[in-house]
Amino acid sequence: MDRPHNFSAGPCILPLEVFEKASQSVIDFDGSGLSILEISHRSPAFVEVIEKARALALEQLNLNNKGYKALFMQGGASMQFLMTAYNLLERKAGYLDTGTWSANAIKEASNFGEIEVIASSKDSNYNYIPKNYAIPEGLDYLHCTSNNTIFGTQMKSFPELGETPLVCDMSSDIFSKNIDYSQFDLIYAGAQKNMGPAGATLIVVKEDILGKVSRNIPSMMNYELFIKKESMFNTPPVFSVYVSMLTLEWLARKGGVSVIEKKNQAKADLIYSEIDRNSLFEGFTAKEDRSMMNATFTLKDGSLAPRFDKLWKSANINGLNGHRSVGGYRASMYNALSLESVQVLVDAMKHFEKTI
Ligand SMILES: *Cc1c(COP(=O)(O)O)cnc(C)c1O
Repeated sequence: MDRPHNFSAGPCILPLEVFEKASQSVIDFDGSGLSILEISHRSPAFVEVIEKARALALEQLNLNNKGYKALFMQGGASMQFLMTAYNLLERKAGYLDTGTWSANAIKEASNFGEIEVIASSKDSNYNYIPKNYAIPEGLDYLHCTSNNTIFGTQMKSFPELGETPLVCDMSSDIFSKNIDYSQFDLIYAGAQKNMGPAGATLIVVKEDILGKVSRNIPSMMNYELFIKKESMFNTPPVFSVYVSMLTLEWLARKGGVSVIEKKNQAKADLIYSEIDRNSLFEGFTAKEDRSMMNATFTLKDGSLAPRFDKLWKSANINGLNGHRSVGGYRASMYNALSLESVQVLVDAMKHFEKTI
């Protein structure tokens, strides 16, 4: 059977050649006769893997030699909701509330100090990105979520803060486009949206923002310690780091973030123009805030859903159901998804319109 067109939101599609290489390495890692899963994380072979993964991450973000360190940690992006605050929050931080993940970050950070919600789009079920808000002086940092995976909105620009560090949850759009990543002081991303299997979390942090809070930080929460230990304070999630390295190598071979951005833009243009053209569907979000990664849309007449669901499933499409807090449909179009897969979905939508 042909592989389904996989629009899953996360865990999600990765390049087929990455799956192939990863599955070989589970049996025989680079001709060693041993599985990648059975060698020491301190062996030279694995140390090379994690070093390469960290170097490739910085390279793809164009953050080499700019004072940043890349780290792999565990606990997912959700652990970063508290770890960022643990390491950076002394008195008061600002948060942009643009979706469920932002709200979770706010909740966790509140355990460590005062949180001021600078702007929120909760009043309309997070279907837009707030704009024109004032940012108060004296924040320890400002936290934002670049892409709201559940609602399908994406920040197209970021506040300019001067001295105040900018922290960004980039779980679902990291490595998807060429932006100035040096405007951020700390970026984090769970691996499972655009980089690798669940289990690892990438943190890219500017070293000079660390070491400024007065609390004691437990070892497993401590960015400075993980930097010192080269992400090997304890056993890292070896398979997730390895497959992340393979995906980053794949991305580099493809020409990197500026080449993949053009592909991602073409996919997004294709689906959004069909959502706007097709009389049966409507987009969920404000047009100017539409995400290039996750397109959310609904049927104007919800009673047609069983028929449309049957149709897309028969077109070998997987993972199109919207998140329960939005309903409808969500087409997640991460780096590894082909334009052809989006065309199959668009054709199904066109076909559905004709048969109604
Ligand atoms: C998926 C997601 C999360 C949660 O990630 P976990 O690794 O499951 O904790 C957080 N933020 C964003 C933007 C996400 O897309």
